[in-house]
Amino acid sequence: MTQRPLTTIGFDADDTLWQNEQFYRLTELQFTELLADHAASEVISARLLEAEKRNLRHYGFGIKGFTLSMIETAIEITEGNVPANVIAQILDIGRDLLAHPVETLPHVRQTLEALSGKYLLVLITKGDLFDQERKLAQSGLGDLFDAVEIVSDKNASTYRRIFSKVGDGPERAMMIGNSLKSDIVPALAAGAYGVFVPHELTWSFEHVEEPTDAPRFRKIGHLGELHGVIEGLS
Ligand SMILES: [Mg+2]
Repeated sequence: MTQRPLTTIGFDADDTLWQNEQFYRLTELQFTELLADHAASEVISARLLEAEKRNLRHYGFGIKGFTLSMIETAIEITEGNVPANVIAQILDIGRDLLAHPVETLPHVRQTLEALSGKYLLVLITKGDLFDQERKLAQSGLGDLFDAVEIVSDKNASTYRRIFSKVGDGPERAMMIGNSLKSDIVPALAAGAYGVFVPHELTWSFEHVEEPTDAPRFRKIGHLGELHGVIEGLS
């Protein structure tokens, strides 16, 4: 009996299934406006990015860590003189970000519906547990997944572990996402297929070179093209 080459498909969530980065960008814009008297917006954004990177190991990925990094940046930019009412406004815009509407991307629902039942579908995302659970519930896509994994980081061992637990190992699995760094490169390293779906907005932290010479690397323009990639494997 021949084995099916693919039994399990992992999907990233933010900016793969639904919009995410655009809400961060809007919040960042509001943040730079709050501090406009102290520095130019590019300077504030650069300092914020440094704070976020520095703090990842303390807070992990997600909005709560982002909010704390905004406060830290406000303290730095004002040399310790940020008024309490500005901190209160930063907390407000952080909370607004936690309540942003969930907008699924084109072709997402149809693609998941077509694959559900034929493959084991697993949502693999990092970020705040609370926030990701809320977004999944509001997206209405939860029932289409066989498993949901909200992880603190995405590396090769994360994918090896999840695809072994949920499916038949990484060799018969595929990961789909908008981040080369988090979704594609480590999934390929684990032995899975990696299907890159670029999103026009991707956090600069997530940029790395495209692994174009990896035999299991694929790139599509939108999720509607996933079907063709899967057909091509068998
Ligand atoms: Mg993503």
